[in-house]
Amino acid sequence: MRDSIPITDEELGFRELEQDSLYRKIPEPMKEFYVKESLQKGREAAGQWRGKRIQEALEEKGIEVVMKAHQSMAKMVRLRGEICFTKEKSSITVYEDSLQSMAEACMALPKGFSISREKCLEVHLAHEFFHYLEFEEGKTVAEKLPKAQIGKFFGWTRMASIQQSSEIAAHAFAKEMCGLKVLPNYYDMVYIERQREKKN
Ligand SMILES: [Zn+2]
Repeated sequence: MRDSIPITDEELGFRELEQDSLYRKIPEPMKEFYVKESLQKGREAAGQWRGKRIQEALEEKGIEVVMKAHQSMAKMVRLRGEICFTKEKSSITVYEDSLQSMAEACMALPKGFSISREKCLEVHLAHEFFHYLEFEEGKTVAEKLPKAQIGKFFGWTRMASIQQSSEIAAHAFAKEMCGLKVLPNYYDMVYIERQREKKN
């Protein structure tokens, strides 16, 4: 059923937006806005690092990469690592076992889509690096974009930031930075599908 996984940035962006806890409350015409604006924010940020490898970018910002054999807690796709960003010292921890299983799924993809283990690692680092840039700036993409009107009570309108905007932007950033064909949540989706196939 691999055909069901989309490949365009917009479609993959939408899939990410769907993960937002407020997704159903976002006014319909605003959904496309969040996807497009978030993609744009990620691409713009990547433009500032053009020509640099992610390892160089990390070094420039003094971010340490820590490799750990395996993660102790329950296995979750999204938990390929941990981040610790502070003003004094920042680090990104990567779990080898999660990376490995992810890489196995990604290496087996058709030509043009398959990526190496090394690339998998770079993608992960680039994604987290984007969140570092948000941290450094003191504002996330979700906070920068206009809030969505998610409800109305007795004349009061409830507005909220759409958190997944930051994820979409981070994916777009990683895609540009690592020269990928697709937004990296494509790989998450492939991985999940593989796990499902294994179980059946
Ligand atoms: Zn993220």
